[in-house]
Amino acid sequence: MPVSGLPPYDDGNVFARILRGEIPSRKVHEDEYALAFHDIAPQAPVHVLVIPKGRYVSLADFSAQAGAEEVAGFWRAVGLVARQLGLEQQGYRAMTNMGHDGGQEVPHFHVHILGGKRLGAMLVAPAA
Ligand code: AMP
Repeated sequence: MPVSGLPPYDDGNVFARILRGEIPSRKVHEDEYALAFHDIAPQAPVHVLVIPKGRYVSLADFSAQAGAEEVAGFWRAVGLVARQLGLEQQGYRAMTNMGHDGGQEVPHFHVHILGGKRLGAMLVAPAA
């Protein structure tokens, strides 16, 4: 059952296809709850996406519908991947885009891990 106001899960989305092995990805980690792979268009020296194995459209969907074990397993994977990428000492940014205003392009929940340089301001300043 989708969260009210959100589209239903689309099994044809690109991350669903990566999970099914239909299209390749540069995998960095996989466990029972999550898959992590390099972003195809990196926005930083390190740019990895972590996605849950389950069918969740967005953070709104995941936070409302996923079981406690899935939530814990997923977020542990996010931390583990950043650690394995060697980002902990210098730091990194973990973020997710949700829905239209968030600029979400792929409708399967994902967390971006960005690092490898000082990232600067979180948002580009709006034009005056
Ligand atoms: P978002 O705008 O938060 O939905 O981010 C979607 C991200 O997925 C973008 O950073 C894309 O570059 C990335 N992306 C799209 N297709 C692929 C793909 N086949 N493999 C890896 N990353 C992808």
